[in-house]
Amino acid sequence: MDEVTGAQLIAESLKTQRVEYMFGIVGVPVIEVAMAAQAAGIKYVGMRNEQAACYAASAVGYLTGRPGACLVVSGPGLIHALGGMANANMNCWPVVVIGGSSDRNQETAGAFQEFPQVEACRLYSKFSARPSSLEAIPAVIEKAVRTSIYGRPGACYVDIAGDMVNAKEDRSKVRFVSCCSPPPVSLADLSAITEAIAVLKAAKRPLIIIGKGAAYGRAETVLKDFVEMSGLPFLPTPMGKGVLPDDHPNCVAAARSRALLQADVVLLLGARLNWILHFGLPPRFNPDVKVIQVDLCAEEIGNNVKPTVALLGDISAIVTQLLECTCKDGWKYPSDTEWWSTMKEKAAANAMTSRALALQSTLPMNYYTVFHHISHLLPHDCIIVSEGANTMDIGRTMLNNYLPRHRLDAGTFGTMGVGLGFAIAAAAVERSENKGRRVVCVEGDSAFGFSGMEVETMCRYNLPVVIIVVNNNGIYSGVDPETWKEMAKMGDLATIAPPVTLLPEARYDEVMTAFGGRGFLVRTVEELRSALQLSLSDWERPSLLNVLIDPSSDRKQQEFPWLTRSNL
Ligand code: ADP
Ligand code: MG
Repeated sequence: MDEVTGAQLIAESLKTQRVEYMFGIVGVPVIEVAMAAQAAGIKYVGMRNEQAACYAASAVGYLTGRPGACLVVSGPGLIHALGGMANANMNCWPVVVIGGSSDRNQETAGAFQEFPQVEACRLYSKFSARPSSLEAIPAVIEKAVRTSIYGRPGACYVDIAGDMVNAKEDRSKVRFVSCCSPPPVSLADLSAITEAIAVLKAAKRPLIIIGKGAAYGRAETVLKDFVEMSGLPFLPTPMGKGVLPDDHPNCVAAARSRALLQADVVLLLGARLNWILHFGLPPRFNPDVKVIQVDLCAEEIGNNVKPTVALLGDISAIVTQLLECTCKDGWKYPSDTEWWSTMKEKAAANAMTSRALALQSTLPMNYYTVFHHISHLLPHDCIIVSEGANTMDIGRTMLNNYLPRHRLDAGTFGTMGVGLGFAIAAAAVERSENKGRRVVCVEGDSAFGFSGMEVETMCRYNLPVVIIVVNNNGIYSGVDPETWKEMAKMGDLATIAPPVTLLPEARYDEVMTAFGGRGFLVRTVEELRSALQLSLSDWERPSLLNVLIDPSSDRKQQEFPWLTRSNL
């Protein structure tokens, strides 16, 4: 008899469904699942917290189009992973979480780490199920992988009863399922395409918004043709950055507020009109803006703004349709319009303000100085991971992306703590694809703290991630060491220290050196440049640059008061 264990069935089924990476933390009852995964040829990365493991697995889903697996133990292990599932679902990224669970005959018995896991995961996933027998495992795994990538991508959960992991079954009794087909692609209705083109052609101030759906949908090639043939200006959302390069002549990111405010027609490609895009409503948008909405999720169409034209389907397919129709008559939006000059003028003014701040030579450095020098040294093909409040917001405007899916950040859910998990995922993918890309993780000091222990994971696997902690001693802002000492003398810090403060000049660089990576304490431009150059030349181990900046450094003055407190 040819027998197979539950662990082997899980691992082989994931491999059959072309899941190539697993991130997790082992313990009873899932150790054998991780071992079986490695035996099946899946790369297993052991992490230090399930949340980071789940962030990593979902980032693999975004980067490769195939979900990563996240392996966790029962109860608290699974509960930690819920944060990652929620983040993945909010971002529309595929991930498959495999959770060990109590034995089949112990449900509701008060078993070790017992928890209603299938029910708990329903809120955070598209599909949540527990196979009732070993025979059913391949079909449930296939359904989880398929559901994670079909329609709007998202998180799926498979619960594995502890007693099934080492139980054995005759292979002939198992219902094996082959690899699911790639997601079916649908085109938009032809009459809607014709209507969309008419609306675009009649526009005085047209704007394309490129979202992370366009990145996930791998629309870059056809989109480049469309933008260049049509001559239309485009604006990327945070993770839409790089679908077309930020230095493309049609990119109007540097005039973002004006572009959004004055556009009369918006072609919305894979971006939701949620808080990131100010709901598509005044005061950030023109109240009469006509929206041509492209999305594969029908339920998304019409959220906050009723679109003038709805194009339901896959972005690449729909942009191909638009391209074919506009190409026919060689229509092109002119480059000498008032719309172009107003945006160019605004972009130039914004660039000047940032540059003036960047060239200030006072110490400690401000955000703009730090990003100015980082941007000069980073290779164009590097993957930039970024999180933190000011660090992410200012970094986004100053660090260019040139390639699609090369920026990972706090995303739709605004999640802090994603950075190290994302960077580990990107570095693991880069290691297998071997394209020579660096992974650079630009973190606020607060953001770094959420998953800081993952530097041990980076050191253990020799993942040459470069972490830059832009350290302002706090959340939003902190205080300098002298003020901190004064406050400590005055009384119990728990009663007087501003809640936003963190330990001034904390030595995050020593966290990295503790595990054998390279650590740098940086105060000046020269130190920053040399530390970054050294780090980028080392492909053997990770580095951490602890860049101490002025704790009161802030964003430049915003033109509109409502911009000051938003996350954008
Ligand atoms: P952003 O954060 O960049 O604004 P969102 O995550 O809000 O982007 O929106 C992405 C949108 O893209 C989602 O509504 C999702 O349904 C959609 N989407 C994802 N993949 C595709 C695709 N291949 N074709 C069309 N729409 C897609
Ligand atoms: Mg900070």
